Amino acid sequence: SKVPSITLNNGIAMPQLGYGVWQIEDDQAFTAVGQALDAGYRSIDTAAIYGNEEGTGKALAASGLPREELFVTTKLWNGDQGYDATLKAFDTSLTKLGLEYVDLYLIHWPLPSRDTYVDTYKALEKIQADGRARAIGVSNFLPGHLERLLGETSVVPAVNQIELHPQFQQAESRAFHARHGIATEAWSPLGQGKGLLEHAALAELAAKHGKTPAQVVLRWHLQLGNVVIPKSVTPSRIAENIDVFDFSLDDADLATLAALDSGNRLGPDPATFDVG
Ligand code: NAD
Repeated sequence: SKVPSITLNNGIAMPQLGYGVWQIEDDQAFTAVGQALDAGYRSIDTAAIYGNEEGTGKALAASGLPREELFVTTKLWNGDQGYDATLKAFDTSLTKLGLEYVDLYLIHWPLPSRDTYVDTYKALEKIQADGRARAIGVSNFLPGHLERLLGETSVVPAVNQIELHPQFQQAESRAFHARHGIATEAWSPLGQGKGLLEHAALAELAAKHGKTPAQVVLRWHLQLGNVVIPKSVTPSRIAENIDVFDFSLDDADLATLAALDSGNRLGPDPATFDVG
């Protein structure tokens, strides 16, 4: 594949760029994931709540690609937190995906007010020990939530998938992850395409490198060491978003991007989000 991998803290290789399938209907997921696999993506990021694990799984099967060349992530939805409920929800996800194992299983949100994420994570440890997830981790966890897992459970999360883009750079979380060997995976890496990609500074960098603003943003993530999972259902953009391995941003470019951080959160605040 054209996409380099990073090595997670348990030795498992994860492609640094994958395809996210949020807001793709189940019946469109078959086509969209098929297009991504054709374009060279091998890592797919879904979740139980996205409602498209079946379409995703059908596309993986139809591709004819060997299972070991694929990297499949799914996530436990909020209403299924708790030890037993998590084991059951995982079975359902695996069945819908049509797989014998996933590569990465994540707790979707910490839901601190419910105080169930520690028990939930212990179920993920069991799933990993049983060989049904090659790696386990979390999503939307703040450093304080990670501290609790580090203190009360055995397996250091391999990944924390968080909102991260040039206008919301998450310096504190990134530093915490780096100190503890947790890979940072960026969700909404393109800032959901709204506003960010029209920024004049990005137009200049894109012109300088003969690339597009989206490609410049993805390149920034990769050079920071983030895992990225951009989403598009447009074939030309699916191809564009993986065509980011033939140029480099220099220190001045990186400084220009660093200056775009404006604290512009697009999604919910994990400290208070409590839906589902
Ligand atoms: P994104 O930042 O990937 O932006 C996607 C949007 O940007 C597209 O819908 C399109 O409008 C635009 N776009 C894509 N490619 C483009 C291009 N080359 N040029 C111009 N515009 C382009 O946003 P996202 O879908 O929110 O995030 C990506 C993935 O992250 C999701 O699909 C999902 O897998 C994951 N995610 C996870 C969580 C979580 O809580 N863990 C939350 C949100 C998203």
